[in-house]
Amino acid sequence: MFVIYGSRYYFQQRSVKSFGQCLACNGFGWQKSYDGSNFGHLYFIPLIPLGSRKRVLKLCSSCNQMLLVDQPVSIDMANSMIESCRQAIESAKQGQTTLPSNEGEPEPIDSFLFSSVDMLVALDATDQLTPLIEQLSLDPSMKYYYSVMNAALGHTKGPKPEVEALYLEAIENADDPDFMMAMLARYYFSAGQVDQAITSYEHVSQMHPQDPHPILVLVDLYTNTRQFDKAAEKWEQVFQLHPALMQDKKSWKLYAKVCKKAGRQPVAAV
Ligand SMILES: [Zn+2]
Repeated sequence: MFVIYGSRYYFQQRSVKSFGQCLACNGFGWQKSYDGSNFGHLYFIPLIPLGSRKRVLKLCSSCNQMLLVDQPVSIDMANSMIESCRQAIESAKQGQTTLPSNEGEPEPIDSFLFSSVDMLVALDATDQLTPLIEQLSLDPSMKYYYSVMNAALGHTKGPKPEVEALYLEAIENADDPDFMMAMLARYYFSAGQVDQAITSYEHVSQMHPQDPHPILVLVDLYTNTRQFDKAAEKWEQVFQLHPALMQDKKSWKLYAKVCKKAGRQPVAAV
């Protein structure tokens, strides 16, 4: 006879299910967030408490990775993120498009607000978030930021046609549509709409030829749809931007593989 021992998070509360991108495997899917206490279990009976109460954030259904913070810290995080969103909105009302920053590139307000939404939902702060978004809807000058946050919030409920409409609305309301064009491409990717994702990422990549991110997503999209010639071309674009990447064994191996499948010679390594 053997003893079944393990540990998991018991006594779950404030459980939230949301659709989003995993920080570990980068895949899109349903994620679970909740408060819980880690217990060692014997025959699936929670017997041995292990540490303080935590909040599990964005538990990925495919790779099982998550973020873990102490439960009281998660409350502080939610409050301070809501406050930062409020301040960002105030700056936007004064005509700023970026947040003041002491170091590095200043963060654009649209991307800051967009990325805050997903985490606030995981932190179970939707009750604080919704009134913030509703307030924006009352101010005609904040139309763009309203639609940005609305699209992000809609996306956490799953990839649906009405969410695509929210992204398109945000693009229409934008003075500079670049950011939301990229987010629309990401939306198509998340929804498995491969053809639309390819068209959108090609467009984003043409607008920002120096940015390797959309090119790398295209490498994936072309490889997954067995368009190996185009995948090889995209690898070569990435190598042109970052020649050092050719020395990276893993990247080179992936590139050589698509070249073989496309029936072409890899370009000479520098
Ligand atoms: Zn994952």
